[in-house]
Amino acid sequence: MKLAMIGFGQAGGKIVDKFLEYDERTGSGIVRSAVAVNTAKADLLGLERVPEDNRVLIGQARVKGHGVGADNELGAEIAEEDIDEVQGAIDNIPVHEVDAFLIVAGLGGGTGSGGSPVLAKHLKRIYTEPVYGMGVLPGGDEGGIYTLNAARSFQTFVREVDNLLVFDNDAWRKSGESVQGGYDEINDEIVKRFGILFGAGEVEQGGAVAESVVDSSEIINTLAGGGVSTVGYAAEEVEPEEGGGGLLSRFKGDDTDDGMDTANTTNRITSLVRKAALGRLTLPCEIDGAERALLVLSGPPKHLNRKGIERGRKWLEEQTGSMEVRGGDYPVPESGYVASVILLSGVHNVPRIKELQQVAIEAQDNIDEIRQESKANLEELVEDDDDELDPLF
Ligand code: GDP
Repeated sequence: MKLAMIGFGQAGGKIVDKFLEYDERTGSGIVRSAVAVNTAKADLLGLERVPEDNRVLIGQARVKGHGVGADNELGAEIAEEDIDEVQGAIDNIPVHEVDAFLIVAGLGGGTGSGGSPVLAKHLKRIYTEPVYGMGVLPGGDEGGIYTLNAARSFQTFVREVDNLLVFDNDAWRKSGESVQGGYDEINDEIVKRFGILFGAGEVEQGGAVAESVVDSSEIINTLAGGGVSTVGYAAEEVEPEEGGGGLLSRFKGDDTDDGMDTANTTNRITSLVRKAALGRLTLPCEIDGAERALLVLSGPPKHLNRKGIERGRKWLEEQTGSMEVRGGDYPVPESGYVASVILLSGVHNVPRIKELQQVAIEAQDNIDEIRQESKANLEELVEDDDDELDPLF
């Protein structure tokens, strides 16, 4: 599936940069165009792969290229004021060649948190292609204002996009690691999961090898209906195919003659499906009640079979209670892994979001209280007790 990716804010830009790197490395061809938007000049300069012409600095008149300092209301205002500049970069995208837009942002900050819902609303008004969001939730240790930003942005972003794919930094942070080192690993995880998912829809259909390949319409249909999505992943190392060609071995029937091999392949797939669904999701949640799901099995064709995917699909239907579980394979002959990626779309039972909202409300009350008391507190500090001093003027 070909995407026009727009990274909004620092995290958004860095993640889109990573997707470009993934595309270069794997040849998956999912990023048709990449744009980065920011209010901070330094963040745009720090990107490595987004073409310079596609880096858009907004809000120069307001913040002089220095960013909005985690003020997402200002981020939203600036995005509205300068939407024409963003549109100017999007005008260079051959939209007829893309299947969807994907706006990527960290929801805890200012620029991406405030700006991405504004951009989503704008794109949906102009284009018929679906507009998806990828929202990154902050770590619990980032503090109240980040949580409040994320909770408010989340509400708005979900409303404005065709589907919000969520990644929770909090579920993925490791203690004792530098923030930057931590983000590098986290961004790899994001790109791996979503790269396999979207890459699956890029394989040519047809022929003996590609009989049950996932089509981009299946990704779009799983995301259609809106709401919030999460992605599971599990992988196991296998022997890559010699010469990278699955075609010959399929024709010769090497992999299907041996009943033992077929049984092993099937068992491996069903086990990977269970691990992916029950392991750590990009947004941890209860999978029961997910409205739709898509199962993608990637790896060398001889390690993929229809029976395994069919069983995995049935199991997912039981676990989610959904009647809309799609599945297929993504043959990657040269890969040393069989990987299972599960997209769960329209999830409802997400304790993490309820907790985020609770902490956000507390932070909001706290901020209001401090603001209200601020004037009195300052007066108490500045005025001498018996009012013996006079100000200069
Ligand atoms: P903005 O530039 O004002 O939009 O804000 P940032 O993108 O710098 O930060 C927003 C939030 O994104 C932070 O609170 C972090 O939770 C998260 N974040 C920042 N950088 C990264 C990154 O490289 N990867 C991930 N996964 N999250 C990040």
